[in-house]
Amino acid sequence: MAKSKTKRAKPKKHHAAVEPMLEFGNRWDYSPAPESTPVPLKKRYSLYIGGKFVAAKSGRVFRSVNPATGRKLTDIAAGDREDVDLAVKAARKALTGPWGKMPAAERGKLIYRIARMVQERSRELAILETMDGGKPIKESRDVDLPLVAAHFFYHAGWADKLEYAFPGKKPQPIGVCGQVIPWNFPLMMAAWKLAPALACGNTVVLKPAETTSVTALHLAEIIADAGLPDGVVNIVTGKGSTGAAVVQHPGVDKVAFTGSTRVGKQIAAATAASSKRLTLELGGKAANILFDDAPLDQAIEGIINGIYFNQGHVCCAGSRLLVQESVYEQVIHKLSDRIKTLRVGDPLDKNTDIGAINSKAQLTRISELVDSGVAEGAQLHQSGCKLPGEGYWFKPSFFTGVTASHRIAREEIFGPVLSVMTFRTPGEAIERANNTCYGLSAGVWTDKGSKIFKIAAELKAGVIWANTYNKFDPASPFGGYKESGFGREGGLQGLASYVDIS
Ligand code: NAD
Ligand code: MN
Repeated sequence: MAKSKTKRAKPKKHHAAVEPMLEFGNRWDYSPAPESTPVPLKKRYSLYIGGKFVAAKSGRVFRSVNPATGRKLTDIAAGDREDVDLAVKAARKALTGPWGKMPAAERGKLIYRIARMVQERSRELAILETMDGGKPIKESRDVDLPLVAAHFFYHAGWADKLEYAFPGKKPQPIGVCGQVIPWNFPLMMAAWKLAPALACGNTVVLKPAETTSVTALHLAEIIADAGLPDGVVNIVTGKGSTGAAVVQHPGVDKVAFTGSTRVGKQIAAATAASSKRLTLELGGKAANILFDDAPLDQAIEGIINGIYFNQGHVCCAGSRLLVQESVYEQVIHKLSDRIKTLRVGDPLDKNTDIGAINSKAQLTRISELVDSGVAEGAQLHQSGCKLPGEGYWFKPSFFTGVTASHRIAREEIFGPVLSVMTFRTPGEAIERANNTCYGLSAGVWTDKGSKIFKIAAELKAGVIWANTYNKFDPASPFGGYKESGFGREGGLQGLASYVDIS
């Protein structure tokens, strides 16, 4: 231990030596490589109710924009209470009809079919996801879409094995599930919600986020083509009031929500006086704890991924970095070097690392919190990159000189902004990491396995990554402590939220 410390004390000089290299940032510029596959974007998107694509009863639509241009992409049907009611009725009919009577193995086959069709159409879906939401194509192509397919594959396998998942019980579907999802992983959140619900024999009314509804409606086409009976999956697009109508509908037996803690609390209140089952996946303010014995270059890559992946629009983003004091200078140096090389721009370009901020409203929220950080006395460090002239963008940023009481240390920024703080001892790291109203995830970076186990056991967070970050697997349960919500998605624990075993 002492030996490794003396070894690591030297690199400070080494830093001064490599400094000039950083001027070469521009040499790494690549020629533009935009995705050129044509995509079947429609001029107008309908609701999907009872196996049919239908306009909202009111005839109203709202627009979804491409955040990389700020311009309108398409019109989406604005469903309201009346449409939600039709969707819940269609879901009930399917539950007591063909879906409820279908042997579980047949149900499983249909879910496998969805998984395969998602794979077949993954390129088109990835492009649409990027156009509607602003995330880099390399992420929607290499992360979101493979995880969407994986989620359906995994849960398809459970459909006829639920009795093994819950031995000694006779697991039954809960009924009609009302699911409301956010805009940060539109299709992946749809898959996280739909796959376990369907595997357990439930039917669904899904409400996508208003800025990113397009891919859910393409998924509806896949679901129709796969041959699921009418009404098993219904998709009602609209804004917050549409979500509220889903949650409050008396015909909904189970509510699953992912989104802000503010809305999560409203939903908890709205369902409190009912027998509805509820799971909430809310915000986070995860700490990445970096010890001085960690391989620093690898750790920096993981920390960069932890905060800048998907423009920081990630509930489990590693938005607080706790660095052991002995390596603080080195880490700050490496961080500022690395953010200079991140490519910000056209999300459809295959070389882009950081795409567009999902909406103007989100950009305003991020800017307001960043301003508060500066006003409260923290130091802002930003990449010197040029931002495109139109659309919504934010430079990859981090703050030093952050104290635990600063808003940027406490509140979810949900953008590409990292707050860096320090610690001296493992005990202090744990205390600081747990000093938050959230508890969704955390990261530990160290060379010592024993330290990982000790720290992980004391962190109050649902998911803890060690020497990696933002790794997801459908077999691994995901969910929070404290104000990050309750209930788990994925794995056996996730299935439990969609069965009645009483
Ligand atoms: P939000 O919670 O308002 O929206 C999430 C979903 O809930 C959307 O589909 C929305 O239409 C719906 N909704 C809104 N009001 C509702 C209501 N009263 N009843 C039922 N459904 C309702 O999130 P937002 O305003 O888009 O983002 C605000 C903040 O939330 C972000 O800055 C971020 O901190 C957080 N957020 C977290 C996650 C996450 O994955 N945990 C995702 C998105 C946003
Ligand atoms: Mn959009």
